[in-house]
Amino acid sequence: MSDPALTPVGPAGFRRLRLIEARRESEAITSFLLEPGEPDGWTPFRPGQFLAVRVPDAASPGGWALRNYSISGPSDGRTYRISVKREPCEERPDGTGLGSGHFHHRLQPGDVVWASAPRGEFVFDETSERAVLLLSGGVGITPLLAMLHRLAERPGRPVHFVHACEDGRSHALGDEVDALAAKRPGIRTAFVYRNPTAEDEVRARHATSGLVTRAVLQSLLPLDDYDVYLCGPPPFMRALHETLLGLGIRPERIAYEFFGPASLLGSPSPPPPAAPEPVALTMTEPEPASGPVVAFARSGSAALFTPSAGSLLELAEAAGLSPAFSCRSGVCMTCSATLLSGEVDYTEEPLDEPAPGQVLLCCTRPRGDVTLDI
Ligand SMILES: Cc1cc2nc3c(=O)[nH]c(=O)nc-3n(C[C@H](O)[C@H](O)[C@H](O)COP(=O)(O)OP(=O)(O)OC[C@H]3O[C@@H](n4cnc5c(N)ncnc54)[C@H](O)[C@@H]3O)c2cc1C
Repeated sequence: MSDPALTPVGPAGFRRLRLIEARRESEAITSFLLEPGEPDGWTPFRPGQFLAVRVPDAASPGGWALRNYSISGPSDGRTYRISVKREPCEERPDGTGLGSGHFHHRLQPGDVVWASAPRGEFVFDETSERAVLLLSGGVGITPLLAMLHRLAERPGRPVHFVHACEDGRSHALGDEVDALAAKRPGIRTAFVYRNPTAEDEVRARHATSGLVTRAVLQSLLPLDDYDVYLCGPPPFMRALHETLLGLGIRPERIAYEFFGPASLLGSPSPPPPAAPEPVALTMTEPEPASGPVVAFARSGSAALFTPSAGSLLELAEAAGLSPAFSCRSGVCMTCSATLLSGEVDYTEEPLDEPAPGQVLLCCTRPRGDVTLDI
């Protein structure tokens, strides 16, 4: 056990998985099929959840760093599939990011990966009967594909799967999306290529080219009342979140997963225009500004915790603070902060108890007014 990644130190709850297969999905994205190392090691997941994975890193305390990867495959009761984009990083010797480089360049079938149980609150509401819009950009397709697998198993609910990527070469998992759409009526798919190649134009797999704009969404989506699930790179998320709000979708109907700090979305809640042009989506009232007051003692600021604020970490980021964080999922303890007054609720059980008087900002909401020492 000389490899630090194989030493089960630190927070409890990590389990051993074994890589059984790697499959290239596009120029930059490869899927990795993982199965538990122990007979009882598989736990169910809800589509949209992710695994927090320990990646060997000599520079990190304990010899490992954490990276999160959404489960992209169906729930087969036996394996987890993740799909990882190779992230360029000039600072590293292999020119690839720490976590994505580990998967793309070092892991071989049979190798061990230490991962948390499936985690995360970006899960789709299976009790809702509203039409679903699954809207992704680039590798943001991963959690939405797991949702599509589940939706394809159940008849009835209308589904629109809209995926944006650069071109056909970077388009991952398209055949799987097509196969799922063919499983039952009521699933519509549309691929949007930003810069289609000449070959793409001949294949004509994409519904349209350029960016996913308001006009593009209106042309692809019939008038309906949607639950929206959104995931993609920061510029895509910023633009589409704004566009969806501008089309009158209520903020609480837009669930999103951010593969980095959620604060990059800003706090866009533009009210609908006074005399709105007809749009293909439902108009709603803006969210009322009320909620507990969260005081940030050290920085001398405060913010209201509204229903769409997410977690205390997201609220602090939206207020312009930069608390330390890493996993954003209650695993790594990096976002631990001192609670000076008030009480919090955990939206997700942390893997390990924080020290007395400390709270994990990434997975807590205030029960009433609170003061944090940040
Ligand atoms: C909930 C969640 C789910 C996710 N799901 C997926 C998924 O399904 N698939 C997926 O591919 N990713 C997913 N991610 C993103 C993933 O966790 C990693 O962030 C991603 O793989 C990049 O990590 P890395 O270690 O490869 O890159 P890092 O080494 O962390 O580098 C990331 C970027 O930072 C830059 N950088 C690194 N070090 C330096 C430095 N010293 N100076 C300047 N710049 C630097 C690099 O150039 C690179 O652009 C998810 C993230 C979250 C939060």
